[in-house]
Amino acid sequence: MEFGVDAVGAPTHPEPCLGVVEGDSVRELLGNPLTEWRRAERTWPLNRVKLVAPILPQPSKIVGVGRNYAEHAAEFSNPVPKEPMIFLKPPSSIIGPDDPIVLTALSQNVQHEAEIAVVIGKTCSKLPDSESSQPYILGYTCANDVTARDLQRADGQWTRGKGFDTFCPMGPVIETQVDLAKSSVACFVNGERKQYAPLTDMIFSVDFLVHWISRMMTLLPGDVISTGTPAGVGPLKAGDVVEVVVDGVGTLRNPVVAPA
Ligand code: ZN
Repeated sequence: MEFGVDAVGAPTHPEPCLGVVEGDSVRELLGNPLTEWRRAERTWPLNRVKLVAPILPQPSKIVGVGRNYAEHAAEFSNPVPKEPMIFLKPPSSIIGPDDPIVLTALSQNVQHEAEIAVVIGKTCSKLPDSESSQPYILGYTCANDVTARDLQRADGQWTRGKGFDTFCPMGPVIETQVDLAKSSVACFVNGERKQYAPLTDMIFSVDFLVHWISRMMTLLPGDVISTGTPAGVGPLKAGDVVEVVVDGVGTLRNPVVAPA
């Protein structure tokens, strides 16, 4: 099942609303997938709605995971970490499908990072190892952990380099049924494939990450864990179109524009 958040262009529908993707159409949804919901009567053709980031309400945090694919760690001559390396991206950096990634004059090297993101569905704190993380996961979406690489390196810590407005495209939908053992993540820039890995290449699995992160911070409904990027990250320039493709989830496409 796919949950989308749709801003429908009709005058009867000025506010974004939640919907369930059913084939070529989107059915409006009453309530919220994080609490209680049911299908409403009204449907819209999928090609007539504007999908926005499928996150409502805004998450309390986006937890990023660094160096979770061995080949990506190696491309920057970094060792493979013994424990996950986590960081936070501010929720204000989120944009939806087709929204522009706005470059910044403060960086000469803004790069793409294609990732699969986990959307938490239920409050999760100090999850015992004996318990599965599955009931706490609402679903999965595509994320682009856009990073000002020069600022990330200069600062030593990553908040500035990863925290700019528009540096967290997410979408196009939340897919609740994904076979992680068979899925993959890829990035295309102007149609050319730059990154690809099966999700089984992750050093720390989704299940491990949820348990590990919940030991130090309570994961709240709507929170996002962006699980790290494979090798092949590279620069973005104004005029590029960048796509994150997660097999079984969809394609997240964003244009790149110069700072105003
Ligand atoms: Zn990343």
